[in-house]
Amino acid sequence: MSASVVIVGSLNMDMVSHSTRLPAPGETLVGHDFVMAPGGKGGNQAVAAARLGASVAFVSRVGTRQHGKALLQALRDEGIDTSGSTVDAAALPGIAVIMVASVGGENSIVYVPGSNAELSPADVQASRALLHAAKVVVAQLEVPMPAIAEAFALARAAGVTTVLNAAPALAVSDELLALSDWLVVNETEAEQMSGEPDPLAAAQALLKRGPKQVLVTLGAQGALLVTNEGSQTVAAAAVKAVDTVGAGDTFVGGLATGLAEGMSAIAAVRLGQSAAAIAVSRSGVQSAMPRRADLA
Ligand code: ATP
Repeated sequence: MSASVVIVGSLNMDMVSHSTRLPAPGETLVGHDFVMAPGGKGGNQAVAAARLGASVAFVSRVGTRQHGKALLQALRDEGIDTSGSTVDAAALPGIAVIMVASVGGENSIVYVPGSNAELSPADVQASRALLHAAKVVVAQLEVPMPAIAEAFALARAAGVTTVLNAAPALAVSDELLALSDWLVVNETEAEQMSGEPDPLAAAQALLKRGPKQVLVTLGAQGALLVTNEGSQTVAAAAVKAVDTVGAGDTFVGGLATGLAEGMSAIAAVRLGQSAAAIAVSRSGVQSAMPRRADLA
C-alpha cells in the first residue's frame, strides 16, 4: 500500500539529563532524572501525521551504530513505512545530548547530525516510487538541501504537493523555494530568512521567492497564511500550555495530513493547529502528540 504522506527528514535520539543547574566546564554534577526519546524534526512530523490517521512513509538515511535500529523500530511501531530509509551500519544516527537545569529551565545541547547529514539525492532517487505515489511530500532542513531538492523535483513531476518546513533557520535557495508549494516557518525563521521583523512583511517577501503559499506559525497567536490572493490569520485554540517543544512539528504533521485528505488550505491549517494545541497542553514531544480521536 502506498503512503499518502512521505516525510524526507532527520531521525535523532534525544538523550536528556536533568540536574538542578548546568555543570561548569570540567565539573561532574549529580543529576536526578534521565530520559531517552526518539526525536528529529523528520521523525516527529512523521509520528504526528501517523497519529492523526495519515498513511506515512519515511525517507531518510539512518546509521545503525548506537541507537539507529531503535529509532527505525519506533517509527514502525507507529505504523510508519520505513522501506524508503537507507540503513548505514557503519554510521551514527543523529544524536542530541541535552542537559536541562530544573531550576531556571536553561539547557545546553550537543547535536551530532550523524547519518542525517549524509542523506544524498541518490538515496532519495531510490524512493522515487514512494514519492510519486504520495499526495504530500514534506521536508525540513535537518537533512542536506540537495536531497530535499531531488525529492521535491520528483514530487513535482508527479503532481504531488510539496511542503518545506524551513527549520532550523538556514539560507534556502530560490530554486528549492520554487519547488515548494508550501513554505512553513515560525516567526524567528521568517525574520531570519527575509530580514523582515514583521511576520506579514516577511511572508510577503518570501512568497516572491517562489512558494505558492507561506505559512508563518505564531505560537499561541496561531498562524498567518499568505498567498498571492491575500493573507489570513488563523487563531490558535486557547489552551493552558505546559510544554511547547515540538508544537511546530505537530502542526506540520497535521497540515500534511489535512492536505493529503484533500482539505482546503485553511481546513488543513486548522487541523494542524488543533493537533498542536493538544500537544502543547501535554509534556513531552512525540509522547504529547494526539491521535485523531483526541481532536473531537
Ligand atoms: P517549536 O520550535 O517549539 O516546536 P515553533 O516555534 O516551530 O515550535 P510555534 O509557532 O511556537 O512553532 O507553534 C506552532 C503552532 O502550534 C502554532 O501555530 C499554534 O497553532 C500551536 N501553538 C503553539 N503554542 C501554542 C499555545 N501556547 N497555545 C495554543 N496553540 C499553540
